[in-house]
Amino acid sequence: MSSTPKNQAPITGIIHHPYTPDAPFAAPQPGVFKASSVFFPNVAAMRSWDWKDKSAFTYGLHGTPTTYILEERIATLEGGSHCVLVPSGLASISVIGLALLKSGDHVLLPDNVYGPSKGFAESELQRFGVSIGYYDPMRVDHCASLIQDNTRLVWLEAAGSVSMEFPDLAGLVRLCQQKGIATALDNTWGAGLAFNCFDLDGDGSYRLGVDVSAHSLTKYPSGGGDVLMGSIVTRDAAVHRKVQATHMHLGLGVGVNDIETVLRSLPSLALRYHAQDAAARQLAAFMADHPAVVQLLHPAFAGSPGHAHWQQLCGEGNVAGKQGAAAGLFSVVIDPRFSQQQIDLFCESLRLFKLAYSWGGPISLVVPYKIGSMRAISESQLHPGTVVRFSIGLEDAHDLQQDLAQALQKAFG
Ligand SMILES: *Cc1c(COP(=O)(O)O)cnc(C)c1O
Repeated sequence: MSSTPKNQAPITGIIHHPYTPDAPFAAPQPGVFKASSVFFPNVAAMRSWDWKDKSAFTYGLHGTPTTYILEERIATLEGGSHCVLVPSGLASISVIGLALLKSGDHVLLPDNVYGPSKGFAESELQRFGVSIGYYDPMRVDHCASLIQDNTRLVWLEAAGSVSMEFPDLAGLVRLCQQKGIATALDNTWGAGLAFNCFDLDGDGSYRLGVDVSAHSLTKYPSGGGDVLMGSIVTRDAAVHRKVQATHMHLGLGVGVNDIETVLRSLPSLALRYHAQDAAARQLAAFMADHPAVVQLLHPAFAGSPGHAHWQQLCGEGNVAGKQGAAAGLFSVVIDPRFSQQQIDLFCESLRLFKLAYSWGGPISLVVPYKIGSMRAISESQLHPGTVVRFSIGLEDAHDLQQDLAQALQKAFG
């Protein structure tokens, strides 16, 4: 089989080589299948095969076996039954908006929502005739007061971006279910490990849950700080079909090399999440003790906004373990008596922590934020001052603590 027929050039022989291995092969990681073109055995198959129910493959843009394997694993991780992969976490958010909303509809976002999600709503959704409103994530009654006849979607985020408030997720979902409004959760912080967003009362009935989740796989599932990807998970077949259609029309294929990378990282997801959680809590407690810090924002700490809601959903007694589960992220508010220059000096004096966005990777990161300018509603639960957010990597926690100590000393004395 390996010799070229007489009248055929070697290049054709290489491209049309008939060998495929038929020995059984099974190994820890699934095979990697890449394609734009997918072959059909005959014209009838070309006309009838349907990728939408995953019974066939028709074109690489709609996925290959490798795509479907990661989709199934992410759906399992989050407690859902359908998943679509997209090229970034932000694309998860935009595809959900485009799939579930139309001109004339109204959408509500929590005021502490992931910043670029606001950007998408304000510049794209509004342009297509969708009106938007912001609710105080810590007040279910405020969300209720903003609901209009044309409100079709309420976004949720737990914990909130940068300021880390943990909302009453169950209360917000119950409200929306009563009003017949769809809910979408940005599930990046919980990563499918801290709580099950499709079963918020935890009784296995899936009665109280969000309709759809967006997850930036860029963060924990990748874990490497080197891949961008997002997922959209649901248990609702009708929602899945809408998401699938919008995904197809926008042409948002995900590269299989990236999918392979996430498949490689996924088995260590829980180990990394819980290790980064433990280190973050140690360092959060250390930072909270410093006189320059006037408020610690980490939902697992008493006194942090929404701690009781976190306790109920992710805390002790939850499947995640004794101390409950949280992402390896926290923020601190620096006493306003310190200047911006001093805060910048603190951030720049850190040696192990790098100045960068994102989280869930091996390297610890720090970002100073001016929260005031990011919010539409004033946050009564937030102490005034500059917020500094830390995302904890996989370094030794003691080394990170020494790094924080030397930078605190340098900047605040
Ligand atoms: C990072 C992030 C996103 C966006 O993910 P990308 O993959 O960077 O586009 C969305 N939501 C939250 C909460 C995030 O942290």
